[in-house]
Amino acid sequence: MHLAFVRTRSQSGLSALPVTVEIHMSSGLPAFQVVGMSDAASREIRSRVRSAIVSSHLKWPDYNIAVNLAPTDHPKQGAGFDLPIAIGLLLASGQLPSEAAKDREFLGELGLDGAIRPARGALAATLATTTDQRDLCVAREGAPQLAAVTGSRIIAATDLLTLCAALKEPEPALTRAAHIPMTQPSYPDLSQIRGQSSLSRALELAAAGGHHLLMTGPPGVGKTLSASVLAGLLPPLDPATQEELWLLRDLAGLPPTHHPEFRAPHHSSSIAALIGGTARATPGEISMAHGGVLFLDELTEFPRAVLNQLRQPLESGEICVSRAEHQHRYPARFQLVAAMNPCPCGFAGSDDQHCHCTPDRIWRYRQGVSGPLLDRIDLHITLSKPASSQLLSHRQEQDASNPVRERVARARFTQQARQGCPNRDLAGDGLLDACALSSATRTWFSEVLEKMKLSVRSAHRRLRVARTIADMNESEGVTREHIYAALSYREMPDGAAGTRY
Ligand SMILES: [Zn+2]
Repeated sequence: MHLAFVRTRSQSGLSALPVTVEIHMSSGLPAFQVVGMSDAASREIRSRVRSAIVSSHLKWPDYNIAVNLAPTDHPKQGAGFDLPIAIGLLLASGQLPSEAAKDREFLGELGLDGAIRPARGALAATLATTTDQRDLCVAREGAPQLAAVTGSRIIAATDLLTLCAALKEPEPALTRAAHIPMTQPSYPDLSQIRGQSSLSRALELAAAGGHHLLMTGPPGVGKTLSASVLAGLLPPLDPATQEELWLLRDLAGLPPTHHPEFRAPHHSSSIAALIGGTARATPGEISMAHGGVLFLDELTEFPRAVLNQLRQPLESGEICVSRAEHQHRYPARFQLVAAMNPCPCGFAGSDDQHCHCTPDRIWRYRQGVSGPLLDRIDLHITLSKPASSQLLSHRQEQDASNPVRERVARARFTQQARQGCPNRDLAGDGLLDACALSSATRTWFSEVLEKMKLSVRSAHRRLRVARTIADMNESEGVTREHIYAALSYREMPDGAAGTRY
């Protein structure tokens, strides 16, 4: 037989798209061509596959060999095609029986010595082959973790020759599942926030409704601490988000986790590192924060281009990363926590130090934050240094986060049952339905809006927060008291872009 077909997978975002390696051998001048991918990638694959076969003491077929990766319009990247191509050559040249590739897929990089190395996107390929009820042949390294996917059938080998020997068996041994070590992030407890009860309350509120949060305050008031405390208040990830995050972390070579992540990229990070991209279309920090907290400290220091890129994921919960002519979609549903100083020197409104910034400078400083981004942030809070007497007060109970975490989980459960999403994502009629205002409250709120000259967007932000306050109080409808409490979270002062009173 001089024709062979071998199944493999190509990574695109979090999916593993099916690819068939077609091998055709004909007599004529010996040659080896791989089509369906870039010239450079094809050259590399050819030299690895040829060396691996020869070093494994298998016979190199002296034919005119054409290899096609179908369908041709799928993105094809990485070295995972080495193994399926080598297997195809061995099948087509009769060195492997035709049943060897039946109901099986292959994914792996080959070393020049014939060693099989793990390929990127192996977890996604495992999930896909499990759904399709096929075996997946991969490198021994990392295979037990893949075998932990329920229902998966993984055949692993350290090198090409060992795999060929296994494939000649009627029933090759399957890899046994390993216990997967989960990372267990430890976040600071709420009790570490001393003497700032309104801050603690705001963090609970942000966690309960999933609201994006902007903290303004002088340096050293604990903005970073507050953001990481918030990550620790979030409920565990739901199964779907957990699986997406597992796939994302697999692409970055990280172990899976049950818990919301806390990511705090520096403002000097590149767009690719933050948003995703680079030559391999890898997910960025915003995707690694999927289901967790993305903390942007010194928000005004981030380049405007970066902040503008956040708008798409804030709206749709995913990001599109382009590479060559292909686009990769990665989930990026994160809770944004941003922090900034009130002015360039940081001490506007502070009792400790005098601020020398001119109103014009302060205005320009705040203009640095884009309006559309602020529009998505429901909660704006101003932090000030707690009095030293409060800092020296008796230590509060050590596990202050625990009861709050329970209340947050209850509120999230209520929101999921009522509208299928956290309050942060409520908009338009859905928001009004969820708030179930009485006609008297509605009339009163319209008058308040009129008096305070609040824009519709601003009004909706307050309503979302009021809905969460009502949820924390286990109230079915939103009342005047809840709206009052929501109005106390004043938005960025006058002059800030996008803030309309
Ligand atoms: Zn200042």
